[in-house]
Amino acid sequence: MNSVELRNKIVQMFEKSHIYDFSDIDWIMVEVLGVSRSAVPFYGEISIMQEKIIMECVEKRLKHIPIAYIFGKTNFYGYDFKVSPDVLIPRMDTEVLVEAVCKHISKCKKPVSVLDIGTGSGVIAITINKETGAKCIGSDISEKAIEIAKENAKELDSDVEFRLSDLFKELSDVKVDIIVSNPPYIETGVIRSLDKEVSGNEPILALDGGDDGLYFYRKIVSESRNHLNENGRIYFEIGFNQSRSVVSLMQEDFEDIAVLKDYGGQDRVVYGKLKKI
Ligand code: GLN
Repeated sequence: MNSVELRNKIVQMFEKSHIYDFSDIDWIMVEVLGVSRSAVPFYGEISIMQEKIIMECVEKRLKHIPIAYIFGKTNFYGYDFKVSPDVLIPRMDTEVLVEAVCKHISKCKKPVSVLDIGTGSGVIAITINKETGAKCIGSDISEKAIEIAKENAKELDSDVEFRLSDLFKELSDVKVDIIVSNPPYIETGVIRSLDKEVSGNEPILALDGGDDGLYFYRKIVSESRNHLNENGRIYFEIGFNQSRSVVSLMQEDFEDIAVLKDYGGQDRVVYGKLKKI
């Protein structure tokens, strides 16, 4: 069977399982055949061994396992990151958060330090460190996440420091210029109704934001003054409907608060500057 015939056969299998993102088929073929995407149609005959490996990946995809978990990696901000079911798969919208932090850092005259709370695979801290050279710490409550984040930093030659900590519990010595976080923000009651590819595969620990989805924003904001330098800033990723609530949580201690939209036009980032006392 040649690559075009095999692709057509897999398209039919995807359609039967109501998966319509055919770019995943290309990704599987690119990975297994080791050629670029544009070369896949011209590859010619596929060996029985290659077909077997491709079909194993397809079977997993048909069971609704996300492609990033099948290959154990994904791309974020142009960098390849290792991922596993112990960490959330980085979303493209999180690039808006990272970009906002990088833009701010590029305007700072002095060296800047950053703390990424709930770092998961480390994408936020590592990308900020790679793009700006800022000194970054990433923290997470999950030991397995910290392991993956450390591997990613090593692989990408980044000097982010990773710390195991439940929010600020093990970070009493940490004081930074910027706190950034994409905390779990889905309301507990809504998790079951998420796409089953998300709720069935990704770690609930990284999604569940408590009854009103705001648990972690409340906790982080309330302790942020102890961990921010003068003129420090906070940057949060938020759920599309949480901007008003998060802004109001921040208003007592923060000023110059602003909301940024993601690529789909939804509110996705809230940031602000620590008020002077
Ligand atoms: N954006 C993720 C989702 O849509 C949620 C990420 C989070 O809770 N921080 O599933």
